[in-house]
Amino acid sequence: MNIEVRLIDNSKGKGIFATSYIPQGSILFEEEPLVACQFSWNATCKYEACDHCLRPLETAQNNVRRLTGISSLELPYPECCETKKEDITFCNLCAVKYCSELCRVQAFNQYHKVLCIQTSYRNNVHPLEQLEDAWKKIHYPPETSSIFLIVRLLAQTLQSSNKEHFTAQILNFCHRSVNEDAALAHKFLGEKFIGQVDSLRELLRNAIPNENIEHFLTPEGFQSLLALIGTNGQGVGTSPFSVWRDNVYKLNLSTQDKENIDNFIEKIYDDMFSHTGDFLNSEGVGLYKLQSCANHSCEPNAEIQFLHNNSKLSLIALKDIEPDEEICISYLDECNIERSRHSRRKTLMENYLFACECPKCLSQIEDPDVTSEEEMSECEIED
Ligand SMILES: [Zn+2]
Ligand SMILES: [Zn+2]
Ligand SMILES: [Zn+2]
Repeated sequence: MNIEVRLIDNSKGKGIFATSYIPQGSILFEEEPLVACQFSWNATCKYEACDHCLRPLETAQNNVRRLTGISSLELPYPECCETKKEDITFCNLCAVKYCSELCRVQAFNQYHKVLCIQTSYRNNVHPLEQLEDAWKKIHYPPETSSIFLIVRLLAQTLQSSNKEHFTAQILNFCHRSVNEDAALAHKFLGEKFIGQVDSLRELLRNAIPNENIEHFLTPEGFQSLLALIGTNGQGVGTSPFSVWRDNVYKLNLSTQDKENIDNFIEKIYDDMFSHTGDFLNSEGVGLYKLQSCANHSCEPNAEIQFLHNNSKLSLIALKDIEPDEEICISYLDECNIERSRHSRRKTLMENYLFACECPKCLSQIEDPDVTSEEEMSECEIED
């Protein structure tokens, strides 16, 4: 690897640094999540994905039929679709779906043994289903995280052969004071729902009762888990149609065929936007050990991509990176990163509790403190 994690100082914590020259476009590293899961509403809305790795389970053709509402739509070049229906498998107890036998076994060995609904039913209504219902009432689309990351982390702790080591890994993500965790948990659940934090905690306790995880289910322990997923949860999106599209673009087509397929794909996107809107991907969230060490910059030199059509993350260099340069990603989305210095720093302070001092923020130190509505970018007006 041409990168390493270093402690910057006690106030800034860790950062990722280049150990050699890294050209623009290179993959800095790839990483499987410690845990990942699909968003609850996304699954309810029939976005089918592997319960373990989020790989899409529907073919590109079924995907566009559902998203455009046109049931007769036929995709040419079917060989460009990578969904392998024949590999899809189920948990034979609760029927949850996986993209492959490998994912089924990994999930069962990591957390699903504790969470498999069929083996742990109590009083007809399963506490995990109650937790999911409560969560969905708090967290409407656009979803940004899932309490099931916490559920899986706790289940994984219980199933781990070395509980202390796994707990230490989780605690490694949480290195804040109780007050900071409280502020982050509050921001994460939102003003309207912060009163429900104790009922969520109770539901979670009912769902996976075990004295080995009791310290995570105290008010402070639960707060730090909420703060953890609020600040470190990384969005994951997969789409069988975009995989098909990328593969079609790699084909050796004649100029005429290329033009036809371009028009065809453009028409599909128009139809999908008018039938479904912006939510075209199977969306979820994951926790990544190495990626979570990457600090923020408003002028990042790296970005996260999902090149494998599942939850495996790739960090890509956006610029040439010199040895010893820190590798930074942006914690802000495309809209927020374009806003004024004042607005960017306000969002980062509220959501991540730090005052950004990246080169861009330092260079704009003389800028006026504008947050007024009139400077909002186009994408925010659409929201
Ligand atoms: Zn899978
Ligand atoms: Zn099961
Ligand atoms: Zn900045």
